[in-house]
Amino acid sequence: MTEKVEILGVQVDSLTMRQAVEEVEKLIALKKNSIVATANAEMLMMATGDAELKKILNSAELVVPDGAGTVWAAHHLGKKMPERVAGFDLVQELMKIAPSKSIKFFLFGSAPGVAEKAKAKAEELYPGIKIVGTRNGYFKSEDEAEIISQIKNSAPDILLAALGVPKQEKWLAAHKKELNVPVSIGVGGTFDVMAGNVKRAPLWMQKAKLEWLFRALLQPSRAGRLVALPKFVWKVHASKNS
Ligand code: UDP
Repeated sequence: MTEKVEILGVQVDSLTMRQAVEEVEKLIALKKNSIVATANAEMLMMATGDAELKKILNSAELVVPDGAGTVWAAHHLGKKMPERVAGFDLVQELMKIAPSKSIKFFLFGSAPGVAEKAKAKAEELYPGIKIVGTRNGYFKSEDEAEIISQIKNSAPDILLAALGVPKQEKWLAAHKKELNVPVSIGVGGTFDVMAGNVKRAPLWMQKAKLEWLFRALLQPSRAGRLVALPKFVWKVHASKNS
């Protein structure tokens, strides 16, 4: 068990990427239908106005600090948070060890064709990886039973769900028993990046903690979401003094 830091009412794990990978491996071995969330500032802000999301995050087995904002918040509150554990990077680290540890993945979510492209990319980058199934993330409620049995029957160790926040967290929490997958992770735009449809910020921008700005500039439809950042900074600061 790692230490938790409470940020705006959500318990976030204080750990390094290496520790996060180890925790996921332990959760796979436990086979307890665990949920892993990747908490960036936007998600934490959303949770302040969404009690269901907040409850899901606080009952998740692991909540990694995804993004510079989350790490800043912990430090501002005077707590330890060794580094950023971005969802995209966590997925790559898990895929890297997957062939030698026989970890099987199912890729669920994103537009039709994207999960298949991400699968092909993973097979190219991580030879020997077993991706036991894919399914796009656009479905009607009447399709859910079929999706659940598709995932269940392919028996992955890790289910990656890319439906966006908070849909992916809510879907995973609602169906975790039926799915019976050892570890499920909400991964947002990860398949889009792996498929090459959306670019990751250059390393210098990531290092300068400006990845959020890059994403907003590249996808202007996301620019509105930037408003969440100053609100996040303000709320964290206010929570410190309350
Ligand atoms: N998506 C999906 N089904 C939906 C809504 C969204 O599969 O009903 C996918 C969308 O195609 C995209 C991902 O969810 O691949 C959300 O990516 P985004 O970068 O917006 O993630 P977030 O910022 O919400 O983590």
